[in-house]
Amino acid sequence: MKILVTGGAGFIGSHYVRTLAHRGGPAITVLDKLTYAGNLANLDSARGHFTFVQGDICDTALVAELVAEHDEVVHFAAESHVDRSIENAAEFVRTNVTGTQTLLDAAVRSGLKSFVHVSTDEVYGSIAVGSWPETDPLRPNSPYAASKAAGDLLALAYHRTHGLDVRVTRCSNNYGHHHFPEKVIPLFITNLLDGKKVPLYGDGLNVRDWLHIDDHVRGIELVRTAGRPGEVYNIGGGTELSNKELTALLLTACGADWDMVDFVEDRKGHDRRYSVDCTKICTELGYLPGKDFATGLAETVAWYRENRSWWEPLRERAALGVG
Ligand code: NAD
Repeated sequence: MKILVTGGAGFIGSHYVRTLAHRGGPAITVLDKLTYAGNLANLDSARGHFTFVQGDICDTALVAELVAEHDEVVHFAAESHVDRSIENAAEFVRTNVTGTQTLLDAAVRSGLKSFVHVSTDEVYGSIAVGSWPETDPLRPNSPYAASKAAGDLLALAYHRTHGLDVRVTRCSNNYGHHHFPEKVIPLFITNLLDGKKVPLYGDGLNVRDWLHIDDHVRGIELVRTAGRPGEVYNIGGGTELSNKELTALLLTACGADWDMVDFVEDRKGHDRRYSVDCTKICTELGYLPGKDFATGLAETVAWYRENRSWWEPLRERAALGVG
């Protein structure tokens, strides 16, 4: 069994590779372009357990060759930061749509055994009350979410049209170690550890469901190994917090107070609330989020305290604005 993991040098993909490698799982090849968000150091503890190919998922010849050599694909590679998609959506459409289509075409041609497409809850749009089941229509609002929705629907179309074994996961906001310091949790932690203020969007009342990367990786593995072809599985963490509530927890964890918060102009088109209904993956595949948020957040803050050498160069690499 050989698995091709795209985007395996990013935040979630690298955790997936490390987890499988530490378990002594199947042979893994990582295909990653190493954009500003990709970092080979994320895979240090898995060295010797995977083959690395630096390349672009839009490179038809490379993708065809690699997909043909593997049994399964787990597809994480994406442009993933909403703020960047508002500034310039071109790379989001190229990677998240064309890159996904390139992989899917190669999968059909090679007769791939299965293709797990890692999508996001943001494809559903924003929900005031209740939670989205997988059957809800997609109403993405940001260019990032729209490009992910296009990839997600393409993946499902390749199942219906070509009979490709595609499984789609739509997860909520991930958090944990090795998270690039432009996203809200690591941005706020690293700012506070450096004695800098944190930028809080609008009234701070936008609500997100937080999912620890351990739980997300477990959910993806359940879908890969026991999920059904052509099906979509929501994966959530069960901890809904407004950004203001999250900020309060991060201030406490870093020993700071509200003087360290700048309320800044809201993100354009900022979705008010995300909430996925996870009944399907819980009942069908036995998934339950295991990481208590208070514990997971404390571990995450401790990791950033202890791993300045990981994040300091990354803050310099990316022109950091608001998270
Ligand atoms: P990330 O930005 O940390 O990593 C993305 C990785 O993809 C990087 O290593 C980058 O180098 C690579 N990549 C980008 N463009 C590429 C290309 N054209 N060819 C090959 N590699 C390329 O992202 P992440 O947070 O780890 O997210 C992984 C996946 O999970 C994405 O598909 C994202 O949409 C989805 N997701 C993330 C979250 C979250 O909270 N982080 C939530 C829901 C869904």
